[in-house]
Amino acid sequence: MSQFNELNRYLFTDAHARGELVQLSSSFKSIIKNHNYPTGVEKLLGELLCATCLLTATLKFEGDITVQLQGDGPVGYMSVSGNNNQQMRGIAKMAEETTADTLQTLIGKGTMIITIRPSAGEAYQGVVALDQETLADCLAHYFEVSEQIPTKIWLFSDTQQQLAAGALVQLLPDGDGSVENKEKQVSDFDHLCQLTNTIKSEEIFSLEAQALLYRLYHQEQVNIFEPQKVSYVCGCSADKCLSAIAQIEPSEIKALLAEQGKISITCEYCITTYDFDELSLKSFISKVNH
Ligand SMILES: [Zn+2]
Repeated sequence: MSQFNELNRYLFTDAHARGELVQLSSSFKSIIKNHNYPTGVEKLLGELLCATCLLTATLKFEGDITVQLQGDGPVGYMSVSGNNNQQMRGIAKMAEETTADTLQTLIGKGTMIITIRPSAGEAYQGVVALDQETLADCLAHYFEVSEQIPTKIWLFSDTQQQLAAGALVQLLPDGDGSVENKEKQVSDFDHLCQLTNTIKSEEIFSLEAQALLYRLYHQEQVNIFEPQKVSYVCGCSADKCLSAIAQIEPSEIKALLAEQGKISITCEYCITTYDFDELSLKSFISKVNH
């Protein structure tokens, strides 16, 4: 499975539609590692990870996308962020232990918030209710209401094999807006969705991208771009922790050091702990009177 942790993008040149396929192994493993999430939570996090990869691949600029699920269920919060280089991280926060395994029973009544942050320019947000049965359907609904682009998404997640995968089909804005043109687009979109709908989980988890795309679309005109690597990058660092410590009152830093001998900060995403002793925090407390 050499092509895993890769995202493939392609154009259906006759149908004026685009497609994406993402297949993940180690990046999915990294996101759930050390968290001891219940199986249902891991599964949904795998789906959200793939969904976020598929969304970031639709970015036409440098930037990042965060997809958050919030609700009144046992998992009150789940979030995955990714950038245009397909560097991903994510987290789930449990309100209570659960054996639930569907979107509705895990998140409960809630919303999906999609935040798009271009590296240059203003961030913007789209919010939709989580009122569809699956995460994939909620995303299709998001595209329908916020962007008015016919889009369909398929998501697969297997916690036993620690594999997650997804596919997307989306119409491109096209042509003269005539009725015939619109009708052709709708029927082309339906046709591509029917083809994609035949993906079985055992295929998307085992076939290499080229073989899978051939199996699905060999009768279509497909222009496949260079695949992109997907990786888990948390982005936390000792320097970022130090900037956070710099926000604390120097007298309070001194009191914490006196009490614990060090200040420890644990990243909630990757569970890395950064320890700072008196020496490393010297510059922060030098102004405090002895
Ligand atoms: Zn981290």
